[in-house]
Formats: sequence, structure tokens, C-alpha cells
Amino acid sequence: MDRIDCAVIGAGVVGLAVARALARAGREVIVLEAAETIGTGASSRNSEVIHAGIYYPAGSLKARLCVKGRDMLYAYLGEHGIEHQRCGKLIIATNDEETALLGTLLKTGRENGVGDLEWLDAAAVRGLEPLLRCRAALKSPSTGILDSHAFMLSLQGEAEGDGAAFAFHSPVAGGRADGERVTLAVGGTDPMRLSCRLAVNCAGLAAQNVAAAVNGLAGESIPPLHLAKGSYFLLFGKAPFKHLIYPLPGAASLGIHYTRDLSGQGRFGPDVEWVEEIDFTIDDSRVDGFYEAIRRYWPGLKDGALRPGYSGIRPKIQRPGEAPADFVIQGPAVHGVKGLINLYGIESPGLTAALAIAEEVAALLA
Ligand SMILES: Cc1cc2nc3c(=O)[nH]c(=O)nc-3n(C[C@H](O)[C@H](O)[C@H](O)COP(=O)(O)OP(=O)(O)OC[C@H]3O[C@@H](n4cnc5c(N)ncnc54)[C@H](O)[C@@H]3O)c2cc1C
Repeated sequence: MDRIDCAVIGAGVVGLAVARALARAGREVIVLEAAETIGTGASSRNSEVIHAGIYYPAGSLKARLCVKGRDMLYAYLGEHGIEHQRCGKLIIATNDEETALLGTLLKTGRENGVGDLEWLDAAAVRGLEPLLRCRAALKSPSTGILDSHAFMLSLQGEAEGDGAAFAFHSPVAGGRADGERVTLAVGGTDPMRLSCRLAVNCAGLAAQNVAAAVNGLAGESIPPLHLAKGSYFLLFGKAPFKHLIYPLPGAASLGIHYTRDLSGQGRFGPDVEWVEEIDFTIDDSRVDGFYEAIRRYWPGLKDGALRPGYSGIRPKIQRPGEAPADFVIQGPAVHGVKGLINLYGIESPGLTAALAIAEEVAALLA
């Protein structure tokens, strides 16, 4: 059996950020990834938006780690020359009821430390975005977009530079905690048993499965997993807006919003579809719901302008209809198993928060 100081399970953006932080702190790290390369999970199936930190309940991990992670991310992208744009976004209200909710969102954002939010009336919005129809909007100047793959490659490169090793095609199939160390059973092309002083479970949609396979971890500590698929449709033709455009958030998502990638390709999504299985196929018939949702704020959207894009699946830990849950980062103080940290429910804003999540994990070890 091989022995190692730290094993990070999963090479999505969060596992990569954790591996980089541990390797930088001088620890011996191996990243075990089931797929053939980094970032094939939620980390490459999202909106690539750098969130400001507006939506989450004050004091929650999501609020704290999003605001902190956003600042860390902008600094990181700048220092490493990774492409990004601080393009700003407008969150819009299309009727009186939504205008009242927008006021509540402004308050929540300010409580979370998002100090640059600006209230715009309909005329001010028209000045900024002539094609947009709404009663009022919140402008968030610190929202942006990034090249998430370049960010992940950079994290991987830095982790490797500090000595971390990456094992691809290496799914963690089980484990055993003996009170001192965690022994992982790794399958795949080169099966092995690995005894680690620390195992950090960053397996995204598979985090619950991985945790449940660790003998010695109480099943009650593992939250349920509910899959909320989100599909995107791409826009034919010229990008209609300079800012990202978001409707008011729903219970399970931020709403079907307009974003664009760094090359200017516009896209709308993600919607919410609770599913039982992981399947990224796009159901073309969902486009009808997109036209309806988008025309509430962009009546000029033409028939036939949308085509299927891609989808992602959110690892929710709340059931459909329940209030949004917070990120869960569980160390031994919660579940009682020395040397194991489990991350659950790392949905949006996990990309924005990744660097701050990594610091949070490192702090649990200190
Ligand atoms: C539709 C959608 C839109 C989003 N939009 C945004 C956004 O605009 N901004 C933002 O900040 N966040 C956004 N997010 C959230 C963000 O994408 C995620 O929080 C983030 O990517 C999670 O990263 P992760 O590393 O935890 O998970 P993942 O990227 O899913 O990585 C998990 C990794 O674990 C690996 N793995 C699984 N099982 C095993 C195993 N047994 N052994 C070894 N490896 C294993 C997988 O192969 C995968 O590589 C969005 C998410 C979704 C789904």
C-alpha cells in the first residue's frame, strides 16, 4: 500500500484550488481524478460568471466565500494574465412585485459587503441597454466573466510546480478510516490502495457516493443529493447587451439569464429541471420556456434565434421547493473522522468562490 500526506479527490475547480493551497503550504499532495483530465464536471458546464455575492443569506458560507473568492479571483486572474472581463450585470424587475423584491436584494447584497450596487430606474436602464424592457434594475459593476479553463489549467500548473501529482483515470471507489489515517481504494487503469493523513473529498456530484463508501464515516453526516439540471441555449447573431442580464432569482436558480463568453457568443440559461440521473443531453423542447422567459425582458428576441448549447447539473442538497441550502464543508469537528474533509452542495457560486473555499479547507487543518 502506498502512503501519502494528502489526497484530493476530484480535479474540478475546487479540487484544483484545494490541491494548489495544500501544495503551496508545503504538503505532499496527490489529486485523484476519475476522468481523463481536469475540469470535466460542473466546472466546465456553467455560466463562467464571476459573481459579486449579492444573493446569499448574510453570514452564510456562500455569502462570505463568494465575496472573498471574487476578490481573490480577480486578483489571481490579473496577476496570471488570464482573460476575464469585469463587464458588470443588471438584475432586472419587470413589474411592481419584482421591483419590491429587487429592493430586498439590494439590502441583502449590501449586508454581504457588495458595496458598489446601484439602483437604476427604467430610463437609466434604457440609456445603458436600449433593447432591455424593465421597470428598474440593480447594476452590479463587480460581476464579470472569465476563461474558466485557463483558470483551472493555471491552478493545476501551480499545484504541480509545488510538487502535487495528478492521477487521472483514478476513481476513488471506497475507503476506510481507522482513527488515524484514511485508506482509499482507487480503481481505474492502475488500481491501488492509498493511505493518507488527509483526504479532501471534492468529487462534486459524486461527493455523497465517495463519502458513503468510506467505512467509518457515519451515514447521518452525509446530506442527501438532489440533481437540478440546467440547460443553456445559444444565441444566433449579434450579442444584444453590453452587460450580463439577470431576472430575479428563483428558489433553485438565478433565473434564465443572458451571459456571453469572452469571444462574444451570447447564451441564455440555465433553467431548472429536477432529474433522477446524470444525463447532459439537451431536450430541444425546453426552448419554448426560454423564449417565454427571455421575452419578458427582451421582447425583440426573434423566433429561431436560439439553438441548443450545453447543460450542467447542480449538486443540490435541498429538495425541490425547499429553501436554498448553503455550501457544506465538513471536517472532523462535525463528522468525527480524523483526516477527512467532505465538501457537499458546491453549486453556484463555487467557481467564483473556489480560491476562498480552498482557504477554508486549509483553515480547518490549522
Ligand atoms: C448550470 C451551472 C451553472 C453554474 N454557473 C456558475 C457561475 O456562473 N459562476 C460560479 O461561480 N459558479 C457557477 N456554477 C457552480 C460551479 O460550476 C461549481 O460550483 C464548481 O464548478 C464546482 O467545482 P467542483 O470542483 O466542486 O466540482 P466538479 O467540477 O464537478 O468536479 C468534481 C470532480 O470530481 C471527479 N470525481 C467524481 N467522482 C470521483 C471519484 N469517485 N474519484 C475521483 N474523482 C471523482 C469528477 O470527474 C470531477 O472532475 C454553476 C454550476 C452549474 C451546474
